[in-house]
Amino acid sequence: MVTPMPFRHAAPNSDNWIRTDVLVLNASYEALTEIDAERAVVLLITGAAETVAAREPHFPIRSKHLEIALPETIRLLRYVYLEHRVLVHDESRATLAAVLRRDDNRCGYCAGWARTVDHIRPRSRGGPNTWANLIAACAPCNTRKADRTPEEAGMRLLWEPKAPTDMARAQRRVWKDLTPAP
Ligand SMILES: [Zn+2]
Repeated sequence: MVTPMPFRHAAPNSDNWIRTDVLVLNASYEALTEIDAERAVVLLITGAAETVAAREPHFPIRSKHLEIALPETIRLLRYVYLEHRVLVHDESRATLAAVLRRDDNRCGYCAGWARTVDHIRPRSRGGPNTWANLIAACAPCNTRKADRTPEEAGMRLLWEPKAPTDMARAQRRVWKDLTPAP
């Protein structure tokens, strides 16, 4: 989920420039994500990225030793390979660990702590290992549901499971890969 940024089109000033959005392109020029200008500037200063387009009108960011133009679009100099594409196809295969991570280890039936994954349409009936058919489930709910659909078991899903559409993860990944260790 991409949170709309109120500063996207606002004229930058000394108070808000760090929160203006900067589009990040992969080394291949493929759009990856948007990050705060503050982070973008760090990537520029550390040589991890270059400016593709500067913000108009020109807004200089000055530090003791250098001045750079506030960027609008930057490009990573090293290709970042994303484990999951930014938009994951809903029918793409999901692993148990990835489903637990997506659902934050919350059971999709009772919101309790989940360590197992339930096939919503049971595997015995051809339910696939896809994002939309898998949901984190606690052991009691998983046992109770057994080889039934939620309707047959009289259980309701608390949310509709989907493939993670993954600007947030892409952003974390880009940031983690490119931030020099402190
Ligand atoms: Zn449960």
